[in-house]
Amino acid sequence: MKAEHYVGGVFRADGEPFPLVAPVDGSELGTVPEAAPEVVDAAVNAARTALQGPWAAMGVDERAAALRAVADGIQARFEEFVEAEVADTGRPRDFAATVDVPRAVGNFRAYADLIYGRPERAYTTRVPGWSSGAGEALNYTVRRPLGVVAVISPWNLPLLLSTWKVAPALACGNAVVLKPSEETPSTATLLARVIHDAGLPEGVFNVVHGHGAGAAGEFLTGHPGVDAIAFTGESATGAAIMRNAADHVTPLSFELGGKNPALVFADADLGAAVDGTVRSTFTHSGQICLCTERVYVERPVFEEFTARLAERARALDGYGPMISADHRDKVLSYYRLAREEGAEVVAGGGVPEFGDERDRGFHVQPTVLTGLPEAARTVREEIFGPVCHVAPFDTEDEALALANDSPYGLASTVWTRDLSRAHRVAPRIETGIVWVNCWNLRDLRTPFGGVKASGIGREGGEYSLDFFSEPVNVCIQI
Ligand code: NAD
Repeated sequence: MKAEHYVGGVFRADGEPFPLVAPVDGSELGTVPEAAPEVVDAAVNAARTALQGPWAAMGVDERAAALRAVADGIQARFEEFVEAEVADTGRPRDFAATVDVPRAVGNFRAYADLIYGRPERAYTTRVPGWSSGAGEALNYTVRRPLGVVAVISPWNLPLLLSTWKVAPALACGNAVVLKPSEETPSTATLLARVIHDAGLPEGVFNVVHGHGAGAAGEFLTGHPGVDAIAFTGESATGAAIMRNAADHVTPLSFELGGKNPALVFADADLGAAVDGTVRSTFTHSGQICLCTERVYVERPVFEEFTARLAERARALDGYGPMISADHRDKVLSYYRLAREEGAEVVAGGGVPEFGDERDRGFHVQPTVLTGLPEAARTVREEIFGPVCHVAPFDTEDEALALANDSPYGLASTVWTRDLSRAHRVAPRIETGIVWVNCWNLRDLRTPFGGVKASGIGREGGEYSLDFFSEPVNVCIQI
């Protein structure tokens, strides 16, 4: 797979090349061109020019048709997308084939459906007896595109998270410049191929490759020609982007890090809670923003739950590597820190030995910890690996206090068979998403996002359409 920029409808590979490394065995997959400021400039200018062209003249139904053509194009190249995602991320093939690529198709279809038949999402309200005393007025609100939208995406769900922003941004009539993660550039390049072949006007969608700080990401988010930034990644990166965007007061949508809690009550179906926590902690080796890293278990079932979770963690097989050597080293540094902070390592805690080429890759063991104080860095900081800390609690209030004592607030999970408790507890957890007796069960129309350091704004359904468009009120005195 050759990573190329896509600017104004043209593929180009200019810029200092850097190596793309396979996380599964450390081999070199190819090189990626680092976009210089001129390339970012050209992409932003191409996007701005496109806003004056045929794209602006298209009605919502035509835009919906364009999004459907992109969805069909991804579907038609399904295998190529799966292979590219597996190579870049090292994730199990099954995950890419059942989650990443189908969701990318779904993201485009969902937003085509949402805008179809709703010209400019215009709402008309007649307000009789307008309070100014100046007589009756007719107010109506139209929605306008924001303009040039910069999309910055992370490496953990490269295609899924890029398309989750690109689809609604295009649905609202914006032009997009996407900068995917430098670790996972391949599916963004393929998406550009699909969009090119689908016949979207040149400049409506652009891709620039490269690093973040001091490089393409920073050039793009500080560019005066960018009208909005949609970012998913670490909270600290969000803060850097915010500072960079401050001079131009650029609107921001942020999906950031997490330290997601799970609450397991003694009345829960324990088997389901263990199964669910295995999934929520270890899926994609913990490299999903929604993954659980803190588990609080009601004391009567604490021992049994922890023993069963640890047994399942030790038996896990076929899990993928960390995305890079750097990220593996970061996760292993937390495994060491946990011991220094006094943790009991109930499962894992090191590097697995496979006896094959995977030993050259970036794997770490699925790990279960107990015994840490809540103030421990291991319990407070996002690790983003296959690891959780399990602690006991005695009362519902204590469980809530523990769950909420975090700088983050993305997602949480509650395991209970008591319906009243579920309804009582869920709205009191300070996270943007609460799952009860399930995890990562998604309806694309629901609000998705975090509170506190986990983000600003919500994505999903109408929430994304609201962010990617500007309401303009027109008031006519009658
Ligand atoms: P990251 O913040 O390191 O990088 C994300 C993107 O930002 C990359 O494209 C990178 O090149 C770019 N970037 C880095 N520094 C930049 C800068 N100064 N200016 C502009 N761009 C810059 O994140 P990551 O390591 O790729 O992804 C993992 C993180 O993402 C975790 O913290 C995880 O929780 C978070 N995440 C959150 C969600 C969510 O929906 N809330 C989803 C997935 C991942």
